[in-house]
Amino acid sequence: MKQTIERYEQIKQRIIDAEKRFGREPGSVQLLAVSKTKPVTEIESLYSVGQHAFGENYLQEACEKIEEMAGKGVEWHFIGPLQSNKTKQIAANFSWVHSVDRLKLAQRLSEQRPIELPALNICIQVNLSEEESKSGTTLQALPELAKAIDLLPNVQLRGLMAIPQVSQDMSEQRACFKMLREAKQSLCKMGMELDTLSMGMSGDLEAAIAEGSTIIRVGTALFGAREQRS
Ligand SMILES: *Cc1c(COP(=O)(O)O)cnc(C)c1O
Repeated sequence: MKQTIERYEQIKQRIIDAEKRFGREPGSVQLLAVSKTKPVTEIESLYSVGQHAFGENYLQEACEKIEEMAGKGVEWHFIGPLQSNKTKQIAANFSWVHSVDRLKLAQRLSEQRPIELPALNICIQVNLSEEESKSGTTLQALPELAKAIDLLPNVQLRGLMAIPQVSQDMSEQRACFKMLREAKQSLCKMGMELDTLSMGMSGDLEAAIAEGSTIIRVGTALFGAREQRS
């Protein structure tokens, strides 16, 4: 637990350093703590030192944690693969969904968002490397998908998310993130008001911040390595 808090301080410092180094506004990069597979006690200890946004990938595990932390004001982000039969629970329990890649899913989330809650914040996941196995829409299909999602009533399209192929090379990392930044810019030129680039993880957060990330999603560098999920 103590280790998690030390790592948290280190990540906060890495963010501050990268903001300075790449000329970003101080405080313009938000940290999303990716707590998948980690116990609720870890979430509580980070919450107690000021971390309020947590990302989860697995719906059932997430819902158990959300119930345990109810009433505390945690902001929950769903970042895992989406399926139609899960949208109802996601719409009821989360503030953000980063992994929308089909209109059908966005429509269901909009229809199923409880009316007493504010609009659900949405990012469209883009598959930059266009690997068959990965989730995400293509850059070609993005403008039409974004236009359609932007019209839905109970969701708010906030921006784009991507998980690029792993690379140790910073210029390669930056080249991917730049594509996402430019994709967002061209949607903004079409009249959409997007303010979010969800990009950067433990191994490439500096490159992401250099290219304009507004939310970095950090798991391993905060909580340590994850156990394999069986
Ligand atoms: C697990 C996960 C992360 C965190 O990755 P780390 O490399 O552990 O920081 C970020 N984004 C998504 C979508 C994830 O599934």
